Amino acid sequence: MPLEYFPTEKDLLTALNAWADDESRDGGAFKILTGSSGTRPLKSKGTRRLLCCDRSGTRKPRSATIRLRQRTSKKCACKWAIWIEESCDGRVVAEPSVAALKELNDKGVPNGESFHLVHNHDLYQNTLEKNTNHAMRYLAQWQQETAELLANAGLSIPNIFSFLSSKCKERNEEIRFSQDDLYNQFGRGSQTKTAQMYYGICMLVTHQMRRSRLNFI
Ligand SMILES: [Zn+2]
Repeated sequence: MPLEYFPTEKDLLTALNAWADDESRDGGAFKILTGSSGTRPLKSKGTRRLLCCDRSGTRKPRSATIRLRQRTSKKCACKWAIWIEESCDGRVVAEPSVAALKELNDKGVPNGESFHLVHNHDLYQNTLEKNTNHAMRYLAQWQQETAELLANAGLSIPNIFSFLSSKCKERNEEIRFSQDDLYNQFGRGSQTKTAQMYYGICMLVTHQMRRSRLNFI
């Protein structure tokens, strides 16, 4: 776990999220909730923010109304939490919360390296498992831009999904989004039409050529 100083909060959050997302580190992956408690200024130091596991807290009881689709909550009062804190020279550092440290010490685990062990639930072991959690799915910037372009060109969501999936395979990148994520973001209005697909791909190629020309200049 990155416990060293970082120049900005954004840099630290990027490093922490990358660490938490990596199932090859310390036995599993999970999602960090950022900004869940807001900032708390200290007199002697900079601002602090508590980051929690996304399974912290408990499920709120819902009304007695009968729901057609029962939703399940993944929350299980997980105690994993760390403070991120601004030091006097402006750099930002992460440190385990007191409760999490106590749990680590109770288990005889050295701070830092095995910080995953304070979770009270299983961690995700591979991309397939991670993708079952909506909060852990995302579109990378190039995927977002491509999907937007193709959706504007009228391509159907299944076609956009298969186009992006094949691009991910070509680039040897993980597919961290589902077809439903694309539906949620770009709507269900598009219809499958081969002509539209070709038109969309032409638009994409033109767009990429224009961008590479700009980069070249
Ligand atoms: Zn947890």
